[in-house]
Amino acid sequence: NREILLVKRPDGAPTNEHFSIKEAAIPELSEGKVITRLLYVSVDPYMRGRMNEGKSYIEPFQLNEPIEGGAIAEVIQSQADGFQEGDIVTGSLPWREYTSVNADSLRKIDPALGPITTSLHILGMTGLTAYFGLMDIGQPQEGETVVVSGAAGAVGSTVVQLATIVGARVVGIAGSDEKVQLLQQLGADAVINYRTEDVSKALAEACPDGVDVYFDNVGGEISDAIYPLLNKFARIVQCGAISSYNKKNDQGPRIQQYLIKSSALIKGFTVGDYRERYPEGFQHLSKWLQEGKLTYEETITEGFENILQAFFDLFTGENVGKQLVKINEP
Ligand code: NDP
Repeated sequence: NREILLVKRPDGAPTNEHFSIKEAAIPELSEGKVITRLLYVSVDPYMRGRMNEGKSYIEPFQLNEPIEGGAIAEVIQSQADGFQEGDIVTGSLPWREYTSVNADSLRKIDPALGPITTSLHILGMTGLTAYFGLMDIGQPQEGETVVVSGAAGAVGSTVVQLATIVGARVVGIAGSDEKVQLLQQLGADAVINYRTEDVSKALAEACPDGVDVYFDNVGGEISDAIYPLLNKFARIVQCGAISSYNKKNDQGPRIQQYLIKSSALIKGFTVGDYRERYPEGFQHLSKWLQEGKLTYEETITEGFENILQAFFDLFTGENVGKQLVKINEP
């Protein structure tokens, strides 16, 4: 029964030396609990923040304790009402092959809604992040220009499609030609490869009418290039800043003058802010998915022993769409 522990807090980029794969005890069943067998693990950029010490919107991971995060598992034994052997569930689970867990922290997945993995992205955390960030904070109007950074990732690729659904002009920014192609297929009107193009120049060409909504997943220099293009009353959705997660001292942003000139709004958020409205987001996302207006990409790495590498690869952009790790067949 393998598990992955955090043994040292990373200073910069996380590497194998910060973790340990160990043999855990056989889990014991008790009243109200189920024993789960891990099927899929979601690796997410926000987990990097939990590896640091200090106050945040979520508790830091403890040293010598397993990493935990969004996962899909199969119930193999149950002493909890409403759960039985064979149920497929999702929740926050430790990176451990077999776990004894309180059933009330789990949600059963309805396989009729789509492939079970969708509960970890388009019909789950990243889909809801895209939906509420764009619709509630960005509020794109038909004909407006929406720029999305980190556009080919799990959140970004959903934002691109949602902005297209509302009739906005969408410009995506991503880090490879393969990702550029994907974004064109998803309906982006223009796509910039920030690794091979001069971003400021390409943005000026791609946004002749300026920028009304900037959905920011990455921060850093890419964002610096967008601020001068903000239109009057533009909205910046500060969803992520992955370019700085592995940095101790990131300079900037020097955004103030641009906010004043454009009367723009910038708002950070975490998806949990919208917990009470999840049913609304879920309903819209599943409807668009069923109607074929929304689609998704997954990058699936196989094997428990490859979870860490899949996590590290988020920071070099190996993934297209949602990065998952498959541990077992249901
Ligand atoms: P992604 O699927 O987008 O994976 C991360 C991607 O970020 C990579 O594929 C890579 O794509 C890009 N990237 C990595 N390093 C850099 C860099 N230095 N500069 C620019 N781009 C980089 O992850 P998610 O969709 O899960 O998350 C996207 C963002 O949204 C993250 O910042 C995350 O923290 C945030 N987030 C926020 C939430 C909230 O509640 N506010 C909830 C969920 C996610 P490329 O090849 O294009 O570089």
